[in-house]
Amino acid sequence: MGRLVNKLALITGAARGIGKATAELFHQEGAMVILTDINDVDGEAAAKQLGERSEYCHLDVGKEDDWKAVFRMLGEKYGRLDILVNNAGITGYVLTKGPHDPEYFDLESWRHVHTINSDGVALGCKYAIQIMKKHCYGSIVNISSRAGIVGMPLAAAYASSKAAVRNHTKTVALYCARNQYGIRCNSIHPGAILTQMWDCMLGEGERRERLVRKMCDQVPLGRMGTPLDVANAVLYLASDEAEYITGIELNVDGGILAGSAAAPSGDE
Ligand code: NAP
Repeated sequence: MGRLVNKLALITGAARGIGKATAELFHQEGAMVILTDINDVDGEAAAKQLGERSEYCHLDVGKEDDWKAVFRMLGEKYGRLDILVNNAGITGYVLTKGPHDPEYFDLESWRHVHTINSDGVALGCKYAIQIMKKHCYGSIVNISSRAGIVGMPLAAAYASSKAAVRNHTKTVALYCARNQYGIRCNSIHPGAILTQMWDCMLGEGERRERLVRKMCDQVPLGRMGTPLDVANAVLYLASDEAEYITGIELNVDGGILAGSAAAPSGDE
């Protein structure tokens, strides 16, 4: 308890999933939390559930005007921001028409996924740097993905956009260090975290159970991750415990990226 006392944190995509779990954990650790999302109904409800030291704002991360409005409010009301978690992201499977493979992908869908996943993160960093540097203090945590590190044959735009997040994080980290802004920037790479993001891929009932079991078999730790597994990693990088850490990528994937396919299994 108390690892973020007196800190002001803004989290994108906080109405559900990893963003919501992060908001709850930050709040539990004493932070004032600004939850943002495009899903206003669930976002408002999540903030209401937290009660004091929380508020909800509409923020579509792909729209620069939305970022400007939220940061104008932050400047006027609080005069600062200590922590930004760029969490909002989409696979594109639900909102865009696809296909999503590198041979036949739909360009409009490709652009939409990049607008949310990579432009959204870049815009968040842009406005966070401008306000955080005033107090020479800040931590930015960007949620990339294991897909930002390895290829995804059926999610080309998602993988490409998450790779952009991974790289931009390091650029922001070095830029802020070079300018002595006191701002750190790190990326987190979740893999196989059971949230609603998976619903369209897993389906329901027996099919869902079968696919989840199959997924668990492929994770070295033998289970899918929870939103809290990721939130705990975000908390560490956001907190002062990580004050000498910038520009890193932290995998939260049950060991998926630790190994490789076609490795000796002992059964040969
Ligand atoms: P989720 O359950 O789908 O939640 C994402 C939230 O972001 C939703 O509330 C969604 O609102 C919101 N959102 C969508 N577009 C937005 C926009 N333009 N601006 C602001 N908010 C927007 O996803 P999650 O699993 O928690 O994932 C969170 C992050 O972790 C994403 O960046 C994702 O790529 C990354 N990640 C997840 C996994 C995983 O296995 N779950 C693995 C690797 C990386 P709507 O409900 O209206 O869509």
